[in-house]
Amino acid sequence: MRAAAREAMLPFLEGVFGNPSGLYAAGRIAQEAVDEARGRVAAALNARTSEVLFTSGGTESINAAMTGIAVAMRRAGAGNHVITTAIEHHAGLHAAQFLEGQGFDVTYLGCDASGRVSVAELEGALRPETVVASVMLANNEVGTVQPVAQIAGVLREFAAAHGHRVMLHTDAVQTPGWMPLDVYALGVDALSLSSHKFGAAKGSGVLYLRRATPFLPLLHGGGQEMQKRAGTENVAGIVATGVAIEAATRDIGQRALRVRALRNQLRDGILAGVPGSATNGCQDDCLPNNLNISFRGLESDLLVAALDARGIAVSSGSACSNSTWEPSHVLMAMGVPIRQAAGSIRFSLGESTTPAEIEAVLTVLPSEVERLRSDGVGRVA
Ligand code: PLP
Repeated sequence: MRAAAREAMLPFLEGVFGNPSGLYAAGRIAQEAVDEARGRVAAALNARTSEVLFTSGGTESINAAMTGIAVAMRRAGAGNHVITTAIEHHAGLHAAQFLEGQGFDVTYLGCDASGRVSVAELEGALRPETVVASVMLANNEVGTVQPVAQIAGVLREFAAAHGHRVMLHTDAVQTPGWMPLDVYALGVDALSLSSHKFGAAKGSGVLYLRRATPFLPLLHGGGQEMQKRAGTENVAGIVATGVAIEAATRDIGQRALRVRALRNQLRDGILAGVPGSATNGCQDDCLPNNLNISFRGLESDLLVAALDARGIAVSSGSACSNSTWEPSHVLMAMGVPIRQAAGSIRFSLGESTTPAEIEAVLTVLPSEVERLRSDGVGRVA
């Protein structure tokens, strides 16, 4: 967590424990803090305060946006077709599958070898009964940035030609602090964020919902969050979210430049120092802090464990449980051969990553890969 975000939230866990719905003094203070945080988030996104909802995280925001808008649009007789991509985070993919179970027809767009979705393919998938398009802003496994603003332009043209507006949602969870976020420039109707990705607490998130966007709430109960998200507010998490997004939005250019240079140093060092290594995903229009690399002949989970034992935390895109092994759906959609996908790991750099840490990885990694390969234990069958 950012120190400023942690410090800002502490009083709301200790002395000021009022419920924002309470009319007593501690409640009013809590309500003011929530309002102030909403103002900070709105300013960071170039949104109106009335368009910012606080949620329990990225997953809730994405589910609320996709199902809440799709169901409201269908109820209004606008249709039952949803467009999304095959490379969304599982929060988006499984929300789309849920909608299929509710009778919606869902089109899953593919991507190219760099992980980019085609605007033309989306345009071709539009129908008079399409109600929602949900396309992530940047992919969490390979970092590819998607052409969301161009997609918004295509949807505007479609609306002008057919008199039918398709609502656009984007999962922007991976982007705060790494690229500028402006909901008007993006042209989206809804945008989802997860607070711990930008230095606030886990279990908090944001849903931007453009004014007048058709929406049926996911949670029913009290009238919190402008009747759109019932339940007592996570005041401390909301306060931290406001402080953290403000800090993350500052100096994006400098941060991105510094971290991109470190990421490139890591990438070039691995490619030069580890035979049989290859990058996955784009290297240009992508997040500066993400690096996805495959190691030929290795099973990624074993490399993750070996690096963890040396104090290096990385993730593997694949999921392995007992006898079943699932390759990354993102790498599969990109057309990465299954053996290469099986040996892929993801490095996520942060604002606090240092050159010394990059050097440490470059010292440890080649020998660990070599050891696993010579043991033969890491081999993909
Ligand atoms: N979307 C993306 C792109 C993510 O990377 C994540 C989490 O890693 C999520 C959604 C889900 O966010 P949360 O875990 O806060 O629900």
